[in-house]
Amino acid sequence: MVPASMALLHHVSTAPIARAIRVRAMAVSSAACLPLVEATAALPSVTLRESNPAPSPPHVDPHVLIGMSESELQQLAVDFGQQKYRGKQLHILLYKTKVKEIQGFSHLPQAFRSDLRDAGWKVGRSPVHRAVASADGTVKILIKLEDNRLVETVGIPVEDEKGSYRLTACVSSQVGCPLRCSFCATGKGGFSRNLKRHEIIEQVLAIEELFNHRVTNVVFMGMGEPMLNLKSVLDAHRCLNKDIQIGQRMMTISTVGVPNTIKMLASHKLQSTLAVSLHAPNQKLRETIVPSAKSYPLDALMKDCKEYFLETGRRVSFEYTLLAGVNDGLEHAVELAELLHIWGRGYHVNLIPFNPIEGSDYRRPYKKQVLQFAGALESRKITVSVRQTRGLDASAACGQLRNDFQKSPLLAVADE
Ligand code: SF4
Repeated sequence: MVPASMALLHHVSTAPIARAIRVRAMAVSSAACLPLVEATAALPSVTLRESNPAPSPPHVDPHVLIGMSESELQQLAVDFGQQKYRGKQLHILLYKTKVKEIQGFSHLPQAFRSDLRDAGWKVGRSPVHRAVASADGTVKILIKLEDNRLVETVGIPVEDEKGSYRLTACVSSQVGCPLRCSFCATGKGGFSRNLKRHEIIEQVLAIEELFNHRVTNVVFMGMGEPMLNLKSVLDAHRCLNKDIQIGQRMMTISTVGVPNTIKMLASHKLQSTLAVSLHAPNQKLRETIVPSAKSYPLDALMKDCKEYFLETGRRVSFEYTLLAGVNDGLEHAVELAELLHIWGRGYHVNLIPFNPIEGSDYRRPYKKQVLQFAGALESRKITVSVRQTRGLDASAACGQLRNDFQKSPLLAVADE
């Protein structure tokens, strides 16, 4: 039987989203937000209560199946007295059939299922608390984690002019973020904890389920600074690539810059794009926008980016949020081009017109200003793109990821 919450999700994925994903990835429509869709029928009545942030848990939960490789699952089957091929079946059930509960592993003997459960094993999929669909087809999902914290993930469907369809998952790596970039809603909400590897992977699976389509691209650009949770991010990256079959080149890991971590990432020689959030062409201005830049001078950051390119052959993409009257002047574009030329070739700039957030004095620049900035870079032989804003009306656009429950977990009043 389909549980009530699943029935709701099914409704979400087949009606408004199915309609919305047919829209082309052009400018965001000004249409009002689609109705907030709550997938919470099975949840108890809840209220919010302050609590101290818990220390970060270990990055792997020892009894969670999601995140395990095929060979690890085969070994697990053998450890439980089963034949090795049962591990391959487990792999298919987790990553292809996407079964969420051990009880649902109908291909496996009942005794094996019971043994797994009795030994404390679980799949590692969490319920979807809410899904909010934007008029442009972007969907923000709130996933309710085991400790009642909520993490956000965003599914972005794009159909190009030739009719080919991409589904990008923008995944979070932390609940909240400690870095407090001045333009970012997530940073303003504070930090709770790192996500475990399965909590990152399950975001992609949740998006696939909701859209009833496989995810083609993954960007680690949701809540949190991936480099502050690198072990989990690398483990999730491995699983997404090897087990869920998303190409390394289809994945992007972003960072605002954490000392010594870019080198560490480069040593893994991944074929994924590194996206560095620059936001300013000089150290002084950067420090006002990205406070954590004080501990990572721009020259050191650029040197590490150059080494990443030399080590991996993958060009670095520089993210640059345009803030009207702050960093969007022609002089900033000229300075940015000079900076990039000093540090070599193989760079790309992705301009992101600021997405408004509550309580921020920053303004979004006019389109003319954005085009002028892009033109100044192009005329200086810097490859540049301007990111189209998606999901604005669902607060799912870049920098907008935040939820009221970011810092405080949900606590069920019924249990008090
Ligand atoms: S922009 Fe990224 S690193 Fe900066 S506060 Fe937001 S989530 Fe954290």
